[in-house]
Amino acid sequence: MLHDFSYHRPSSMKEALDFLAQNGPKTAVFSGGTDLFVVIRAGVAKPAHVLDLKGIPELGKISWDKTEGLSVGACVTINTLTEYPAVREHFPVLRSAGEELATFQLRNRATMVGNVVTASPCGDMGSPLMVLGGEVVLASSSGERRMPLSEFITGVKRTLIRPDEVVSRIVVPPTWAGAVGGYHKLKRIKGHDLGVVAVAMVRKENTIRCAISSAAPTPVLLPDLAATSSVEDVQKKAQSMISPIDDVRCTKEYRSFMVDIFIKRLMKELEAAA
Ligand SMILES: Cc1cc2nc3c(=O)[nH]c(=O)nc-3n(C[C@H](O)[C@H](O)[C@H](O)COP(=O)(O)OP(=O)(O)OC[C@H]3O[C@@H](n4cnc5c(N)ncnc54)[C@H](O)[C@@H]3O)c2cc1C
Repeated sequence: MLHDFSYHRPSSMKEALDFLAQNGPKTAVFSGGTDLFVVIRAGVAKPAHVLDLKGIPELGKISWDKTEGLSVGACVTINTLTEYPAVREHFPVLRSAGEELATFQLRNRATMVGNVVTASPCGDMGSPLMVLGGEVVLASSSGERRMPLSEFITGVKRTLIRPDEVVSRIVVPPTWAGAVGGYHKLKRIKGHDLGVVAVAMVRKENTIRCAISSAAPTPVLLPDLAATSSVEDVQKKAQSMISPIDDVRCTKEYRSFMVDIFIKRLMKELEAAA
């Protein structure tokens, strides 16, 4: 049985933000709904209202501009993102991670914004966005604010969003456009599954950037490293920053071990591709 709630589908940002200004604390907004309705069905979330953002045309837009970068609206699905020509051309790490998220069918609904607002340590889009310096744009009836994803996600399923706000879009600045990149994810099965641990890495000119998911409460972004760094240097830095745990899906030792393996594989791949 689904908990009772009222369903709202605004057709403009103004309508949505006015509704949230009045009813924010009792409302759950959603883009694809693939996370939200799981927690409602499980009785974990009991919102009085749900606000469906898919009727707001501007939230369905994706665009690329070499000065502003990539802008991905809240309701852009993962499949639209991974097929978008500028993502394929400039941000292969986003495509690689997006294609690891769940199944093709689910990716027709699921969004990158929903993924990062959920802020699950095993979410697939957090670490690739962090290596690219991704930022969230938050909108409310009192205006807009923008912050790096690395500040926005503060803990397990915790972010800095306020109840009267929506994330309207994610912006990936052009700084890392053209970087070769990849995302390696350990799963319990060969088919689709949540990540047990994952590593995202990009390499551009003389720098590499690496971030790790499922090995700490939030994705862990390593400081920029010289592309001439040895595999051991990057592994050592990563191990000093992660804090993996034992859980039903994996031991902390195996998580640490696989972080080293993925770093080694990615550095080799990116060196060959650079
Ligand atoms: C079978 C299954 C398999 C899955 N496999 C994976 C997987 O392999 N990897 C993975 O990372 N995830 C996986 N997920 C989780 C989920 O599909 C993803 O996290 C997805 O990207 C969420 O996007 P969404 O648009 O559906 O989020 P929604 O359900 O719409 O929203 C998720 C959360 O974000 C909030 N929210 C949504 N949009 C906004 C907005 N614009 N502004 C403010 N808050 C907002 C909602 O209130 C909710 O709290 C899986 C889920 C299912 C059901």
